[in-house]
Amino acid sequence: MKKNLFGYTLSALEDEMVSLGEKRFRATQLFQWMYGKNVYDFDSMTDMSKSFRSLLGEQYECVLPSIHTEQVAKDGTIKLLLNMSDGAKVETVLMRYDYGNAICVSSEVGCSMGCAFCASGLLKKERNLTAAEMIGEVLVMNARLAEVGERVSHIVVMGTGEPFDNYDEVSKFIHIANEPKGLGIGARHITVSTCGIVPGIERYANEGIQVNLAISLHAPNTEIRSALMPINRHYPLETLLPAVKDYVEKSGRRVTFEYILIKGVNDREEDAKELCERLAGILCYVNLIPLNPVPEKPFERSEPTTTRRFAEYLNAHGVNCTVRKEWGTGIDAACGQLRAKAKKEENHGQ
Ligand code: SAH
Repeated sequence: MKKNLFGYTLSALEDEMVSLGEKRFRATQLFQWMYGKNVYDFDSMTDMSKSFRSLLGEQYECVLPSIHTEQVAKDGTIKLLLNMSDGAKVETVLMRYDYGNAICVSSEVGCSMGCAFCASGLLKKERNLTAAEMIGEVLVMNARLAEVGERVSHIVVMGTGEPFDNYDEVSKFIHIANEPKGLGIGARHITVSTCGIVPGIERYANEGIQVNLAISLHAPNTEIRSALMPINRHYPLETLLPAVKDYVEKSGRRVTFEYILIKGVNDREEDAKELCERLAGILCYVNLIPLNPVPEKPFERSEPTTTRRFAEYLNAHGVNCTVRKEWGTGIDAACGQLRAKAKKEENHGQ
């Protein structure tokens, strides 16, 4: 089996070159071709000898996913369903903000976290994605954007999957994305979102680069959180919040808490009050998310007035928050919906 070069950090590729009896700078040359010039075919890498190029061709390859389906919404959101080389299907979404183009990267094929409101978990986890495949999500989107003279400027690891359930590959991915000779995306433009896997949060504090952390909180107390998110039974709020505090102290970074507002479940004034009490003293910011209704799930979105009042309560009680803008309305916007639909169609076709 040939090894996919998109899975290497620069330093890992330098070590690999040394193991082939080559100089370390070969890795930089390869990075320049792959990430600087989007050249993936070794024969075209003309600053390396023919014999070395043929050796590369025998042992390595540059494999990208292919596009299975593409949807573009009125607001410019692009949603791609990608085929990985083993046939696995993965969603990736591009959101166009005024400050740049943010890609929402999937980290696993399916997800086993089982959050009650989420479409991704409708299909259980099949496997981890590799760093090479996550880089592939960005490169395929970049190729798509090159048509209009743009590129991906921000990464959020908020697609299908739980990144801290696939820590090693996600870590490699963010280092390749951040590498100036790689994709060159600034650490402050990279955010990883977790449902709250505590050992992952501890490890992330020691990543060594200034990447952002988002925590899917979605509840002001452990009862509501356990009902919505099974992970809370392993890592309850009582363990999660101190771990987040430690992370803030160690990294000096502010964290984002994501909080989906669900009608009658977590959107009452007493919920806002309890949330403020819980978050007091943590350097954080709350992103209130209007629920994306998933047909298979029983939950409804909070009323606009409830949402506004909830946000006002938080802001008035010392917790900074905003309500997230909605993207991609009309294109199976909820996480995992497009993939679930394609699977259904595949199964019907069989
Ligand atoms: N597993 C990670 C990242 C993927 S989910 C995590 O849990 O953070 C990315 C975000 O989308 C999470 O905050 C998740 O809770 C949210 N989400 C999932 N289903 C949603 C829905 N139906 N409507 C709105 N947000 C949803």
